[in-house]
Amino acid sequence: MQIAEKTVVSIHYTLTNKAGETLDSSIGQDPLVYLHGGQNIIVGLENALKGKSVGDALQVTVEPSEGYGETREELIQEVDRSAFQGVDDIDVGMQFMAQTPWGEQPVTVVKVEGEQITLDGNHALAGETLNFDVEIVDVREASQEEIEHGHVHGEGGHHH
Ligand code: ZN
Repeated sequence: MQIAEKTVVSIHYTLTNKAGETLDSSIGQDPLVYLHGGQNIIVGLENALKGKSVGDALQVTVEPSEGYGETREELIQEVDRSAFQGVDDIDVGMQFMAQTPWGEQPVTVVKVEGEQITLDGNHALAGETLNFDVEIVDVREASQEEIEHGHVHGEGGHHH
């Protein structure tokens, strides 16, 4: 069976950045399972997998525009420490949920300078060119319920 809209796909993958550093990998763990055409994974990877079948291995380079987007300066902002009520210690790398014009978004503390805290709402991989080494381990038809929900049920997916 070939990967197409409304198939459930299991892949093993290793993600590296431009410098060759491994950022994420499914090797040694369960494969990633996703609903093709359901926008469960980044568009650049989804497009490259279309038409492939079990056993195929491929390398995919995904530019930021088809990955996690470009870094957007407007998502980086300074706020006063007083905005963090109930949080005593604020350190670089901490993540919070913040209300933004785009809804509730995760933000990461990138700088702490006295009372000024700099937050970055960009995805950690924004602006990165991503390289995926992918092997397809399973392809099956999605159930009607999975198509309606827009995600995979059962092994590797949602249980509800
Ligand atoms: Zn569901």
